Amino acid sequence: SKAKLFDEKNDIKITFNDVAGLEGAKEEIEEIVEFLKNPEKYTSIGGKIPKGALLVGPPGTGKTLLAKAVAGEAKVPFFSLSGSDFVEMFVGVGASRVRDLFKQAKEKSPSIIFIDEIDAVGRARGKSNFSGSNDERENTLNQLLTEMDGFGSNTNVIVLAATNRAEILDKALLRAGRFDRQIYVDLPDVKEREAIFKVHLRNIKKVDNLDIDFLAKQTPGFSGADIANVCNEAALTAARKGKTAVDMQDFLDAVDRIVGGLEKKNKIIT
Ligand code: ATP
Repeated sequence: SKAKLFDEKNDIKITFNDVAGLEGAKEEIEEIVEFLKNPEKYTSIGGKIPKGALLVGPPGTGKTLLAKAVAGEAKVPFFSLSGSDFVEMFVGVGASRVRDLFKQAKEKSPSIIFIDEIDAVGRARGKSNFSGSNDERENTLNQLLTEMDGFGSNTNVIVLAATNRAEILDKALLRAGRFDRQIYVDLPDVKEREAIFKVHLRNIKKVDNLDIDFLAKQTPGFSGADIANVCNEAALTAARKGKTAVDMQDFLDAVDRIVGGLEKKNKIIT
């Protein structure tokens, strides 16, 4: 079977309403929505629309969600691929995939390209990963740089990329006219966790007196993805027990399970 080149979504329904907290990041990225909605407003006066922005932050904090929300808000097509998909690629395939991606995105502009885990292709060149597949990764990275340099300021394609390790990226990627804007997406504080709980509780039948502020206080260090997980686990537990509404105990059990999982993960890392 032919491997999928990249993913294309034309009808994203996610908006800023689905992204809780991250006020600073939303404010910065709001400008990109404006560019995509009305590029002529900026270009006709001689402004150059930025080509790319890098979303930087720990796993599960909403980088992909935020990129999709930009597409949803601006009502533009969303082209995506993951840097890790390139790791096992045959010679020449990575670069041609990048070329195809940009070609499609340009045909459908204004549009967004989203590259998740860009560090997998965007690590500094010339540093061996001992696997011998470095050449192909470099070809892919070079193609990406070429594409970004190649489109003029009137192309109306904006490239968003996500990483949790900006410091290992090739400096060429961060140069003016490429990913020259960095947007930080951090782990949520207690108020932000409360807001994230509220988003993920929208479609869950819960007891009336559920103390969401308490749940937020019980979950320090949790990412948005962890909180989404807690809400779903709690709903499944309640259903398994034959309840018709999720109660505090279901949530606290789910929090415990996820804390257990996080501790295991940290043990492996350190
Ligand atoms: P990774 O670095 O692992 O790719 P990410 O930063 O791209 O992670 P997402 O994939 O966007 O994280 O988040 C996973 C899920 O977690 C989202 O689909 C959403 O359900 C939930 N989530 C994360 N952050 C938020 C947030 N700020 N508000 C609401 N939901 C969130």
